[in-house]
Amino acid sequence: MAFRSFHPPQRVLMGPGPSDVSPRVLAAMARPTLGHLDPVFISMMDEVKALLQATFLTANELTMPVSAPGSAGMETCFVNLVEPGDTVIVCQNGVFGGRMKENVERSGGIPVMVQDDWGRAVDPQKLEDALTAHPEASLVAFVHAETSTGAQSDAGPLVRIAHAHGCLAIVDAVTSLGGTPLRVDDWEIDAIYSGTQKCLSCTPGLSPVSFGAKAREKVTGRKSKVQSWFLDLNLVMGYWGGATKRAYHHTAPINALYGLHEALVIVQEEGLDAAWARHQRNHLALRAGLEAMGLRFVVPERERLPQLNAIAIPDGVDDAAVRGLLLADYSLEIGAGLGAMAGKVWRIGLMGHGSNPRNVRYCLAALEDVLGRVKAPVARGVALDAANAVLGAA
Ligand SMILES: *Cc1c(COP(=O)(O)O)cnc(C)c1O
Repeated sequence: MAFRSFHPPQRVLMGPGPSDVSPRVLAAMARPTLGHLDPVFISMMDEVKALLQATFLTANELTMPVSAPGSAGMETCFVNLVEPGDTVIVCQNGVFGGRMKENVERSGGIPVMVQDDWGRAVDPQKLEDALTAHPEASLVAFVHAETSTGAQSDAGPLVRIAHAHGCLAIVDAVTSLGGTPLRVDDWEIDAIYSGTQKCLSCTPGLSPVSFGAKAREKVTGRKSKVQSWFLDLNLVMGYWGGATKRAYHHTAPINALYGLHEALVIVQEEGLDAAWARHQRNHLALRAGLEAMGLRFVVPERERLPQLNAIAIPDGVDDAAVRGLLLADYSLEIGAGLGAMAGKVWRIGLMGHGSNPRNVRYCLAALEDVLGRVKAPVARGVALDAANAVLGAA
């Protein structure tokens, strides 16, 4: 058989990530590859670091993209900060909190799980109670934006509670960075990780991380070696670490970093406040249209993420059939439910570059058509008017 070049179809990606990648990012990635110690490339790396600091709103020196997806950013935080025998409080309100537990265990730590209902924010009182019951705990971990359910937790107060009990806080911001207010220094977050393929509208495969002074001290003062050679920050810092001469650690994903650089330039051009406001406005427009159709959000209003809209699948409607028709007839991807929410919800992403009025209208029109064809009990002919009213369209 003769192999030929691969040409993917043009989709509209409105799931939980990857989101639509900006054409500017794709163009940046097609530029010539440089050597990973080329001085021109190194000065671009310095800019990537400064751009990440500006996007995380932090002055943390130890801020850089890990050369692997969001899950590797998560793992970087846990393998570096958890030493064997450490007790870690993990607040779980969805799928990703469960992965944090796995990471704690594999790092030799002892996880203490604080469970919240899926689709709700993390309850600060439950964290407070767990810390009181476990004075030996040294770390707290939680997910800021639970992509599996569409719930947003109030990160600042959770970090304050952790600190009041002498713990460092690890925060998952894979879906929040760029889409919803996030202030690493103001909220005194000790260690944070994100991903490139959600609200930064870059391709998947990189994980921006940032570590504050106390977390950094913990990493450099470890009694035991970090179990992962690749993710050991004591070694990675030699390559990404700032003023000193860069030493080879691994070959950086050069062109992927061009893409991240461009994605972060786009964020700075728009401004974080404007980007957050845009995500909120398009979420409200989508919500108006979905609710006009009679669809229901699963997360209470004040805990909703603007970039990830989880709606209940109406009774009797075939989940896979609807998503299949959207893909086949509209080239539109929306997300299925994950974990305990599989088969119960659809997850509609309005992330980064993809959070725009055109996608709001396209998704509403496509859903209205497809839901009508599968005889779902939804109102027709009203969704676009409702969305247009929010968007201020004439
Ligand atoms: C997507 C996601 C991850 C994992 O990121 P990958 O790039 O898929 O490894 C972790 N946490 C949250 C909250 C996510 O949404």
